[in-house]
Amino acid sequence: MDINEKATAKEGKADLLSLYPEELEALVVSLGEPKYRAKQLFAPMHKGIHPDDITNIGKSLKAKLGEAAFYYLPAIRRKLVSAIDGTVKYLFSLSDGNCVESVVMRYKHGNTICISSQVGCRMGCAFCASTIGGKVRDLTPSEMLGQIIAASGDMGERISNVVMMGIGEPLDNYDNVIRFLRLVGCEDGLNIGYRHISLSTCGLVDKIDRLAKENFPITLSISLHASDNDTRSSIMPVNKKWSIEQLLSSCKSYYAATGRRISFEYTLIAGKNDSRESALALAALLNAHLRSPHDTMPIHVNLIPVNPVTETGFSSSERKTVEQFAATLEKKGIRATVRRRLGADINASCGQLRREEEGRK
Ligand code: SAH
Repeated sequence: MDINEKATAKEGKADLLSLYPEELEALVVSLGEPKYRAKQLFAPMHKGIHPDDITNIGKSLKAKLGEAAFYYLPAIRRKLVSAIDGTVKYLFSLSDGNCVESVVMRYKHGNTICISSQVGCRMGCAFCASTIGGKVRDLTPSEMLGQIIAASGDMGERISNVVMMGIGEPLDNYDNVIRFLRLVGCEDGLNIGYRHISLSTCGLVDKIDRLAKENFPITLSISLHASDNDTRSSIMPVNKKWSIEQLLSSCKSYYAATGRRISFEYTLIAGKNDSRESALALAALLNAHLRSPHDTMPIHVNLIPVNPVTETGFSSSERKTVEQFAATLEKKGIRATVRRRLGADINASCGQLRREEEGRK
């Protein structure tokens, strides 16, 4: 199914929030209305206003739109607010009853939302809750935008940064994610600049190479999690398809093409990948593959103590081990930070709320 078919999949109706401005124009013209009506629809719809409630649109166009198209925002099924840091976690239900999660984190520089890109995930990472039941389906562009619009509307606050780090592998839903990225940057829409967007991937090398050519200066986060192929393959099946070396070579090309720094996510699992030897091997690996004497590619490693998920049996490294790991990397010239845990009291890492909800059904 190509993207346009997907955007119009529901009972043959057009998904209004997945349409580019020019496609919306074509739609209103096809309904016998002047082109400028599209502008009157686009901006309010992207603020969360249903077309039926837009005041300067007449009844007849509303009726025609109701026939030809649909507008749907994710509905809040559950909402948890952290008493510690104000992090808000949403469990959204979609028009078909499936659920996804989004988390809004409050930083001094503004609100950042972590959104989901698929219902479930088929990547099979051993430590991750989102992949346990496999992939149910891809999210449409409107469902990705809708998470931001619905959260921002509920909070009554602007969301200025987006991280694609929720449920799903964004590059496994490539065409819809690209359309989402184009829409989220629209001036009349959410108008979130590419520099305020990060996309996290487990490492689909062919798609990273494609993304490098799209001319989106977004930040790429690579879920690395290991410094050798045996360990990585044992926790991330994707590594059997593309080795660490292939992945790093693709990262290097991405940086050359976009000039955007790449950050590496490294989840510390006790006894698995958290030793001093692992830290030295990681530094050696990154320095060998991404740097040469003339190359100053900025490398940043985000260390994330693994969030224990009942089904996976992995446990988190001791605080001291995490700090030592970071210090070892720094000594070898690799910038490392330990991810601050936001929303610790509301189980804010992704995938777990949806699993709880599925368990209840
Ligand atoms: N599929 C994408 C994005 C979603 S996962 C990816 O793999 O990058 C977002 C991040 O959370 C990834 O770095 C992922 O490896 C990490 N993650 C998943 N489960 C985790 C857990 N239980 N504890 C800590 N990090 C986890």
